[in-house]
Amino acid sequence: MTEIIADRNTETPDYDDRFDAVVVGAGLAGSAAALTMADGGLDVIMIERGRYPGAKNVFGGVLYTPTIRKLADLDDAPLERYIAERRYGMLTDHDETAISISPGEWHEPPHNDSYTVFRGEFDEWFAEQAVDAGATLLTETTVTGLVRENGRIIGVKTDRPDGTLRAPYVVLAEGGNSLVSERAELKETEQRGNVAVAVKEVVEFPDDDNAIQDRFRLTGDAGAAYHYFGEGAVGDAFGGGFVYTNGETVSVGLAYRISDAVSGQPNPEGTLNAFKTHPAVAPLFRGGRTVEYAAKTIPEGGADSVPELTHDGAVIVGDAAGLVLNNGVHLEGTNMAVESGFHAGKSIVDAAEQGRTDADALSAYAENLEASFVMRNLRRYEWLMEAVENDREFVFRELPQALADAGTEYFRIDREPKESHAENAKERIMEAVGGYTGAAKLALRYRKIVT
Ligand SMILES: Cc1cc2nc3c(=O)[nH]c(=O)nc-3n(C[C@H](O)[C@H](O)[C@H](O)COP(=O)(O)OP(=O)(O)OC[C@H]3O[C@@H](n4cnc5c(N)ncnc54)[C@H](O)[C@@H]3O)c2cc1C
Repeated sequence: MTEIIADRNTETPDYDDRFDAVVVGAGLAGSAAALTMADGGLDVIMIERGRYPGAKNVFGGVLYTPTIRKLADLDDAPLERYIAERRYGMLTDHDETAISISPGEWHEPPHNDSYTVFRGEFDEWFAEQAVDAGATLLTETTVTGLVRENGRIIGVKTDRPDGTLRAPYVVLAEGGNSLVSERAELKETEQRGNVAVAVKEVVEFPDDDNAIQDRFRLTGDAGAAYHYFGEGAVGDAFGGGFVYTNGETVSVGLAYRISDAVSGQPNPEGTLNAFKTHPAVAPLFRGGRTVEYAAKTIPEGGADSVPELTHDGAVIVGDAAGLVLNNGVHLEGTNMAVESGFHAGKSIVDAAEQGRTDADALSAYAENLEASFVMRNLRRYEWLMEAVENDREFVFRELPQALADAGTEYFRIDREPKESHAENAKERIMEAVGGYTGAAKLALRYRKIVT
């Protein structure tokens, strides 16, 4: 069955009991699950509230493709640029201290599986791969609740006049704003401390055809991902900023804890404007014109906030399950969404072969996810957010300032011997880290970033 229904006014055929599985949301996780189930011979319907998949999706964004590449041929996928350079910049109010990583290997396919994309285009393409595999896509339809019978989930309610759609399996792939799962008490509402607010602009350069190549030192399809943290990026908030090159435009944005957004920080729009005027960032956007503005939340509770993934008749995948690694060094959710959709889809195919819908029969999903990079990475960095929160003043303010001061001192040109500048630079760093004892404690506390 291959069908796309995109018109809100089209009368929906009677879909009740016609499908083996319903997928709520045709984002990355939903399409990965639908594609896997369709490949496994199941009749699947994806229900998407947007006019088309991706229409409502916001992200930075760099799409990470190790799993998508196994599910679909990326040759004709709408990719913008591959990431050839990663830059991490620490900003004070007017300084930048940065490191840049640009290995030659990233210029070769598969380009470290990292590409900028526009979700409006990519999600539509990915959903089409599921449709080509046999799934049905129903757009402009919002799932409003779940249908239960004797505690078991047996379908979904929608805002269509023909309403309810029963099917043996439901995949909840509704993203971070997971109202259906929360209302059904399959997960708790995220606490403020576990949610970041993110804003993003897409900027074009109408008077400068080579703006991206020149300003980011790029050729061909190569692209850049710049990450920033420190006071100059998000003020006093816990978070960071980003700049990503698309084909002809640049995305710029930031994300920080919602709890900071409501406690004195200028609003996200004001914070983004301040970030864009930082002396290290402003030249990248000179003469640029904002053509798109979007805001969204990111779940960042880590492994601790992942809910029960399997239920009788249903599984939760992607952002809806809190599967995002957002820790200042990594911002990865796309790869986790696809990996989780894939494992969930496979477990449903296997359960269907046994004619079972109970949570136990679906437990391979949770087990395989636990063994995969998704849960292993979330667990590996579980401690980091808490450590950074405890060292917040040091990480976001004192360290960027000390590094900027030390760099200024170390490279100072005057008539003093270099020895005295090197000594001053070292002293400045030692002062910030609390001497040798403080440095040793810090190294111990953060050793797991590199070990
Ligand atoms: C600003 C920002 C920057 C980010 N940057 C990056 C990045 O650079 N790299 C990275 O890997 N990750 C990034 N992420 C995270 C990444 O976007 C997510 O992890 C990923 O999109 C999750 O995919 P998903 O399919 O689970 O959810 P989503 O992409 O949110 O898809 C959910 C889908 O469900 C639909 N839906 C929701 N509710 C309903 C309903 N009730 N009925 C029907 N349909 C519904 C939505 O319209 C949507 O299409 C970023 C996130 C944000 C907000």
